[in-house]
Amino acid sequence: MSRRGLVAGNWKMNGLIEVADALVGGILAGLEQRKGKNVCEVLVCPPFTAIQSVGKRIAGSAVKLGGQNMSEHKPGAHTGEITGEMLTNIGCSYVILGHSERRSMHAEDSNLVARKMAAAYRDGLTPIVCVGETLQERESNKTLDVIREQVSAIFPHLPADTAKRQQLVLAYEPVWAIGTGKTATPEQAQEVHAFIRQMLVEQLGSDIASKIRILYGGSVKPDNAAVIFSKPDVDGGLIGGAALKASDFLAIIDGFPG
Ligand code: PEP
Repeated sequence: MSRRGLVAGNWKMNGLIEVADALVGGILAGLEQRKGKNVCEVLVCPPFTAIQSVGKRIAGSAVKLGGQNMSEHKPGAHTGEITGEMLTNIGCSYVILGHSERRSMHAEDSNLVARKMAAAYRDGLTPIVCVGETLQERESNKTLDVIREQVSAIFPHLPADTAKRQQLVLAYEPVWAIGTGKTATPEQAQEVHAFIRQMLVEQLGSDIASKIRILYGGSVKPDNAAVIFSKPDVDGGLIGGAALKASDFLAIIDGFPG
């Protein structure tokens, strides 16, 4: 398998500058101790206000920087919004899009998320598009229908360029597992990841589909990371709560040797 593991920390709305600096300092120190070992790709996504100072701390390291959201619009009269270009301008290479908190609390639907993805590509960012079902949808056996709807929306908005298509990252995050301490079993995660992979094969062909990384997110912790990451279609994790403690985040990184 040619996919490199990716562990991404979504810090959400946490971290004044000093706290963010201390957190990334701990992550850098831990990675320094692992120098020479096979470490997966590591990404941190601080809140907007801390991106620049975290960026300065990680300069020259292998840690990548990402935003948690962006506008689908070009620069202009959009008070309170930021463009992907503003993220690249301060050192970001990734952006998380369509997180369930944005879908549920900020009325983002799959079409808007897909338009944001197109804007992210246009602005030189690698999009991480999140998908996932609610507990009610899982309990009424609608999981795969929801995933199909959310993933299908992105295809008309993907750039034609093969290299850009291969760069795409998807994150399966069952809403019922986010921040709840409940984790999908490795088998539940693999079932949905395999379903997404099959959709990618059908829409983009097996070569591109085999290169696209699909992360799992939802209460990943040091003690469950390795077993979830061991599944064939799980290519890393999108980590919320456990990304706020350097030792936990590092232990999760250890769960996915690069
Ligand atoms: C997330 O918000 O993307 C997430 C997976 O959160 P947690 O790890 O806290 O469940």
